Amino acid sequence: MITRRHFLARSPLALALAGAGCQREQPTESMSTPTSQRPLIVSTWPFGKPANEQALATVRAGGSGLDAVVAGIGVAEADLSNSSVGAGGLPNAEGVVQLDACIMAGPGHRAGSVAALEGIGHPVAVARKVMESTPHVMLAGAGAKKFALENGFPEVDLRTPEATAKWREWQATRDGDPGHDTIALLVLMPDGNLYGGCSTSGLAFKLPGRVGDSPIIGSGLYVDNEVGAAGATGLGENVMRYCASFLIVELMRRGATPGEACAEAILRTARQDPKGIDLSINFIAIDKQGRWGAAGTGKGFAYAVTYPGYSEVLPSLALSDLKVKAVGGHLEATGD
Ligand code: ASP
Repeated sequence: MITRRHFLARSPLALALAGAGCQREQPTESMSTPTSQRPLIVSTWPFGKPANEQALATVRAGGSGLDAVVAGIGVAEADLSNSSVGAGGLPNAEGVVQLDACIMAGPGHRAGSVAALEGIGHPVAVARKVMESTPHVMLAGAGAKKFALENGFPEVDLRTPEATAKWREWQATRDGDPGHDTIALLVLMPDGNLYGGCSTSGLAFKLPGRVGDSPIIGSGLYVDNEVGAAGATGLGENVMRYCASFLIVELMRRGATPGEACAEAILRTARQDPKGIDLSINFIAIDKQGRWGAAGTGKGFAYAVTYPGYSEVLPSLALSDLKVKAVGGHLEATGD
């Protein structure tokens, strides 16, 4: 058994954090703050806050953990001003909106997922249906849409005038940073069970059929009812090659706090990846004890934390601020 102290003592992150002036055994607020309040709900980006609050209201009204995930994420999916999730999402290179989503339930280690789903506004609800009413985990493309329609999900035209205008603009230049974001939402219920979900329109103007990390169990989302849960947002290609959410949960199993695990996963990726720290990836995590944390490669990743009596958007630890460099296969703080 590796204790947390043990983990930290040999972790390159511990060295980096020490070099950056962070105390190993006293994480800063953005690293981890435990709460005994339940449910604890943590999600990506400021648009996660109203989603969290809906999830909290759902639990207060007697809803289950899965109800909370679907209702919370449903707020972001229904928000037409959100150009990276659900009905307001930016389309692919051919002007078609293709949505990715997944859901996991800690009890029974169940999962459901849909990828490249067209014409359906609430993909996370379809993912739940896949989990609950099929022997499968993942449905993609035309099969996912057929399944959704057969199960009573209404067909909607997902192209908003705003998104179509942005796509036309992009077509003219094929240039600029194509936007992308995801809502990943994690819930620790009063009975100690963990749940999570993830939903996105993926990378704007992506190749038709491109699937990101968000519907991939272990990449965009992972829930382990013994340990904790993690979710991702950012450039999916840089998340899914490292099974990052699974890795974060496994790091927590070995003693890391949620914040440390998120940061360690980024540093491990940065150490191996030709792109170094320039990966545009961000993670949130919660553990079974009610601690939470987040980390991103750059500044600007904020996440929402909600529990009874508290709902805030917090800045995440930005790994680029740590000024780490690879030295002989290890990451070390540069000290400047
Ligand atoms: N991870 C999403 C994807 O690559 C996008 C994002 O969260 O920024 O599809």
